[in-house]
Amino acid sequence: MDKIKIEKLTVFGKHGVYPEENVLGQKFLVSLALYTDTRKAGLTDDLECSINYGDVCQYVKQFFEENTFQLIERVAEQLAENLLLRYDLLQKVDVKVEKPWAPILIPVENVGVEISRGWHIAYVALGSNIGDKKSYLDEAVEKLKNHPLCQVIKVADYIQTEPYGGVEQDVFLNSALELRTLLYPEELLRLLNQIEAEAGRERTIHWGPRTLDLDILFYDDCIIDTPTLTIPHIDLQNRDFVLLPMAEIAPYFRHPTLGYTMQQLLNRCQTL
Ligand code: ADP
Ligand code: MG
Repeated sequence: MDKIKIEKLTVFGKHGVYPEENVLGQKFLVSLALYTDTRKAGLTDDLECSINYGDVCQYVKQFFEENTFQLIERVAEQLAENLLLRYDLLQKVDVKVEKPWAPILIPVENVGVEISRGWHIAYVALGSNIGDKKSYLDEAVEKLKNHPLCQVIKVADYIQTEPYGGVEQDVFLNSALELRTLLYPEELLRLLNQIEAEAGRERTIHWGPRTLDLDILFYDDCIIDTPTLTIPHIDLQNRDFVLLPMAEIAPYFRHPTLGYTMQQLLNRCQTL
C-alpha cells in the first residue's frame, strides 16, 4: 500500500521511568509511515483526498506535550491508536519513537521502539436459542457498535435455524457481522466472551442452549490454532447457519485455507 512518511519529527515530552524525566522532560524523535491509498489525491491534486501531514505533525507534538507515560512502548501504542482513530483514510501506521538523550549513564547513540498497528477485518457469528433471541442479538450488535475500537460494517439478516450437534433444544436465531477492529484476535475473543456473559450466558452443555453465542469466524486471512482460539472457526464449511449469513454479507470472501468463497461454500454445503 502507498505510504506517507514523516521522519525524525522532533518533539518535547516528559515520558520516562525516572521521576526527573517526568519533571525536566527531553527531546524525542518520532517517525511515522502512514499507510493510505494516495491514488485519488495523486489524480485530483486535492488535499481533502489524503492525510494532511502538517496536521499529523501538529497532532503528534500536542500528544507528546499533553500526556506523560513511563514507557516509550506505551507512547508508541497510544499514539498509533489515536492516529488510526483520528484519520479515516489511515489503514495502518508504523510508529517509531526514539529517545537519543535517554539518561542511562552509558554513552549510546540512540534507543527507541518501532511498532506497526492497523485496522483488521473480522467476521463474527451470532446465535441465540433461549428467551428473547432477537434482543440478545440486537444488544450484541449495539455493544460492538459502541466499542471505541470496533466499527460494525455489515450485519446479515437474522435467520431461524434448526439446532446443530444432536442436543434436543429450541430453534436458533443466527446472523453474522463484519467488524473493522483495532483489537487483536485474543482481545476480540475476550470482548465477545464478556458480551456473552452480560447476556447471562452459562457454559453448561457443549452445543447446548445459550442466550448468546459469539464466535470469531475469520480475522483477516489469519490462521490461528491455540488452546483457546481456532481461526478460521472450526467446521464452518459444513454449517449453513454460518454460511447463509456470510454469503449475504461477504459472498466473495475466500476461506484462507479451503480456497473457496463464502458463496461457493454455501452452494457446496446445500448440495451435500
Ligand atoms: P461453541 O461456540 O463451540 O458452541 P462455546 O461458545 O462454549 O462453544 O466456546 C467454547 C470455547 O471455544 C471458548 O471458550 C473459546 O475459547 C473457544 N474458541 C476457539 N476458537 C474460537 C473462535 N474462533 N471463536 C470463539 N470461540 C472460540
Ligand atoms: Mg462460541
